[in-house]
Amino acid sequence: MNQLEKTAFWQNLDQQHHIHPFTDTADLNKRGTRVITSASGVYIEDSEGKKYLDGMAGLWCVNVGYGRKELAEAAYKQMLELPYYNNFFQCAHEPVIELSKVLAEITPSHMNHVFYANSGSEANDTVVRMVRQYWNLKGKADKNHIISRKNAYHGSTVAGASLGGMAGMHAQGGPMLANVVHIDQPYWYGEGGDYSPEEFGLITARKLEEKIKELGPDKVGAFIGEPIQGAGGVIIPPSTYWPEIQRICQEYDILLVADEVICGFGRTGNWFGSDTFDIKPDLMPMAKGMSSGYLPISAVMVGDRVADVLINECGEFTHGFTYSGHPASAAVALENIRIIRDEKLIERVRDDIGPYFQKQLATLADHPLVGAVESVGLIAGMPLVSDKKTRKGFDKPGTVGTICRDFCVENGVIMRACGDRMVLSPPLVISHADVDEIVKRASAAFDATAKKVGIM
Ligand code: PMP
Repeated sequence: MNQLEKTAFWQNLDQQHHIHPFTDTADLNKRGTRVITSASGVYIEDSEGKKYLDGMAGLWCVNVGYGRKELAEAAYKQMLELPYYNNFFQCAHEPVIELSKVLAEITPSHMNHVFYANSGSEANDTVVRMVRQYWNLKGKADKNHIISRKNAYHGSTVAGASLGGMAGMHAQGGPMLANVVHIDQPYWYGEGGDYSPEEFGLITARKLEEKIKELGPDKVGAFIGEPIQGAGGVIIPPSTYWPEIQRICQEYDILLVADEVICGFGRTGNWFGSDTFDIKPDLMPMAKGMSSGYLPISAVMVGDRVADVLINECGEFTHGFTYSGHPASAAVALENIRIIRDEKLIERVRDDIGPYFQKQLATLADHPLVGAVESVGLIAGMPLVSDKKTRKGFDKPGTVGTICRDFCVENGVIMRACGDRMVLSPPLVISHADVDEIVKRASAAFDATAKKVGIM
């Protein structure tokens, strides 16, 4: 079979049996899947031999880049030694014990215990059960409401979708989990009107206080937020936001949950987004960059306050997964963290490639279609607008973003559209030359999009 025949073969088979995640599968089947066959460094390759610069690190996860033999070898070695055993019934194994120690080292100093799962969604399911059980044990079972934000993303299980603030997800598979409520997001560019970003940060943070007062502080157990909203379009909160959230959580005795699934493991130029924004969370769900996506693994890092109660006052915590702390995934996570440490990738994002990425990307803000370039570390969001002065978007949000995304793919760069915000989150190992390449290809895609929608 030549390349075209091979592609057609796999596309045909895919259509017959595969329902894709977050996809209109009927529409996809009309167009055909892109079959990805291999990857190396920051490039992926499809079945027709076309290479793409992966500006998204997969789904925000391949932090150390593709083709790392060390990670494959760590999995191989562990699978030969002990491919599986559980952490139930008085058992544990070496990789999971060591990983727990290492996670306690790299997370904030008041976080010293960890509970394992397999995905970000499962980590957030775990958060819901932990929060409610914590307050139950404290004799305050009514503190079972969790406050989140509109346009948040916390996963796709029932609990994850409920915690998230995506209207399109709430519209399917409901009813959602009870006692989860959503307040406004700190999205100044899109919703801040004439306020300064700092004013708007305070206003949106104080929505939490209003909601707590409305429900009653004795009914609210936790607030959950991503340090930077990822799937919502890389919404970077104004500097005033997180300090005020922290103050409110303390004042009303509400647990603070920082969802680090995207921000964790170097993305923002520190180990965690909580370090970058000076957040002191009680619980920290994490996944993705934990293993750079080579094997599935996630965890909830538990602060001392909650761990003390959960360990010493709970008896059996009736929660866990067959693959909680899977040995091969734990071995890969350990090796992944070793790479991040030895290659000083955190420092690289903070001092070198992060600032370079931000500077080069900022040149795109001059483009007539691009309202702003907002970035921290190696994560960025760019709203596409019809009027830069008034920050006005387009009538049918998502339409122009999708056009732009398709031009990006055509130009050989993977950039994602979250509505009409174009987002980037490349591997932490990206070179300066490849940052330039992203900017060049993105710029061409913006030109083509602007022409198509009649702005240029
Ligand atoms: N939380 C956040 C902040 C995420 O970005 C995601 C995934 N994009 C999740 C949770 C869910 O993770 P998963 O897809 O592994 O279930």
